[in-house]
Amino acid sequence: MAEKRDYYEVLGVEKNATDDDLKKAYRKLAKKYHPDVNPSEEAAEKFKEASEAYSILSDPQKRQQYDQFGHAAFSGAGGAGFSGFDFNSSGMGDIFGDIFGDLFGGGRTSSRRSNPNAPMRGANVRTSVSISFEEAVFGCTKQIEINFREECPTCKGTGAKAGTSPETCSRCHGTGRVVTTQQSIFGMMQTETVCPECRGGGRIIREKCTDCNGTGYRTKKQKIDVQIPAGIDNGIAVRVKDKGEPGVNGGPRGDLLVEVRVSRHPIFQRDDMDLYSTAAVSFTKAALGGKIRIRTIDGDVEYEVKAGTQTDTKIRLRGKGVPSVRNSKRRGDHYVTLVVQVPTKLTREQKKALKSYAEAMGEN
Ligand SMILES: [Zn+2]
Ligand SMILES: [Zn+2]
Repeated sequence: MAEKRDYYEVLGVEKNATDDDLKKAYRKLAKKYHPDVNPSEEAAEKFKEASEAYSILSDPQKRQQYDQFGHAAFSGAGGAGFSGFDFNSSGMGDIFGDIFGDLFGGGRTSSRRSNPNAPMRGANVRTSVSISFEEAVFGCTKQIEINFREECPTCKGTGAKAGTSPETCSRCHGTGRVVTTQQSIFGMMQTETVCPECRGGGRIIREKCTDCNGTGYRTKKQKIDVQIPAGIDNGIAVRVKDKGEPGVNGGPRGDLLVEVRVSRHPIFQRDDMDLYSTAAVSFTKAALGGKIRIRTIDGDVEYEVKAGTQTDTKIRLRGKGVPSVRNSKRRGDHYVTLVVQVPTKLTREQKKALKSYAEAMGEN
């Protein structure tokens, strides 16, 4: 084995470096050489060297020994030059959480620190409901049936048989996670995994509740009324509070998200808050003007067609569109395209009348 380098030199700090300086220096090296970042063997060596240096210098007592005796201070029992490096020392776990936690984007931090006994909100549940075009425009109440999961009333959600209660897992002491330390080519590696004994739950059920088979939950069909606001559009979800999955450890329930599927209408097309349709105008009314009936979402309305109306004329019926889903007093408009009808079947009399019309127009 090559001569051991000076720990201060390894970290690239001065002899009087503060704890903060050490941490910063080690972080910098770890970012460069950690096996997750740099899988080369050289990097592994560097990482091992830096980790060892840091583990000694970050411990005030060991640092003092090192300052006094150098590497000789730790070359006792093990002799392999690695004996002073103790990942098991209490502080090291925190340092690693601290350094690697945000070094690798926090994912580790959260899994590291997640506590299976903390209250957690239940998941949201999605479902859908079909409604008619008119129901979407004016709003409605729809009854739907859901599978509602809730705490088993027999065991009150513990999953344990009546008269017994779940025990705290002795393997992980209820944390749900276990830390194993092993020697690898990178040195001593600490890995944290889900506790195999309780599978992360932190608790062990010796005798299962027979009503829920130890799950702590039961599912029953439940009918609920969903209030669908006026103006809702296809594909929008309505949130029903607290009808999702139950929370864990006293956390709140999730919500139920009901996606609304709106049927098409045979006459009206919808674009956001506006409606579109066509209306037929007879040839004579288009020429002479007169009243026609137009179908709207509110029912038929009378409309005065101007004399000389051309086919494809677009008119706007203000406020006859779809209400705003936020403010039902505000409504969109209804655009109507007037289609002039040319008569196809004419009686002898009608033909005669049209011929005299043509003559009056100077047509042949
Ligand atoms: Zn039960
Ligand atoms: Zn456990």
